[in-house]
Amino acid sequence: MTKCGVQRLSDQELLALREILRKPSPTSNQVAWQRPRYDQPTARKQQWVAKVVTVLEAEHRSADLGNKTDPIEELVWIPLTRQTHRQNSLRSWQRIVDLGGPPAILKTPEEELAALLKDAGLSCQKARWIKRSLEMVVERFGRLSLDDTAAWADEEVERFLTTLPGIALKSARCVMMYSMGRQVLPVDTHLRRLAERLGWVAEGRTERRIHSELEVLVERGLRYSLHVNAIWHGREVCRALRPRCEECVLREGCQRSVNGA
Ligand code: SF4
Repeated sequence: MTKCGVQRLSDQELLALREILRKPSPTSNQVAWQRPRYDQPTARKQQWVAKVVTVLEAEHRSADLGNKTDPIEELVWIPLTRQTHRQNSLRSWQRIVDLGGPPAILKTPEEELAALLKDAGLSCQKARWIKRSLEMVVERFGRLSLDDTAAWADEEVERFLTTLPGIALKSARCVMMYSMGRQVLPVDTHLRRLAERLGWVAEGRTERRIHSELEVLVERGLRYSLHVNAIWHGREVCRALRPRCEECVLREGCQRSVNGA
């Protein structure tokens, strides 16, 4: 399977994007932010998005978020991270590893699995989702592997993954991006907040619509970088409550910051 690192921006790609940033600003020697709004033409927004990806990559360097390079492990990991802190997810993951990894989950009664996952919260629900997801993979492919999807189109893989319990659109795209090497864009709460505040998309879009709108704006090769670095930026700077706008590298072009919201 392709390692997630393959999708990160190479030094050459970063250099190329930095060239865009070097173009002179009409108003200042800072980044030539254009402050496009969500109702402006797509081409202009695409340039803006590419600049933001470069700035965020330089700031956060696509630091590892703990995702797995094996799709079956990622199917287990994603539910463990939902609505809990990282340390709790890591503890539960270690218990899965000690148990024998995903294959051992298939032989473990649901109640026992829930007890192992107690640190991750919602353990009964997560145990049910995880065990049933793995069973459905075996039912479909005859083994605990998604290797047979290698020749499938992205849409086909996404359609199958979203039939699994607890795997909605964003989670399906995380599995595809992190562990299958597919250049799709998962839009989580941090990326949604950032895109809305910057003015790329209108607020309150449905999950399907915001995925579609952002996918049009973000080139395939930039999607991994944007997703990962938007998460770091959302955790550390563009927080849901009390964003640290005065320290933000994006503030010159941010719609929310400009409007003083
Ligand atoms: S300027 Fe403020 S609202 Fe805008 S992206 Fe930065 S932290 Fe978020």
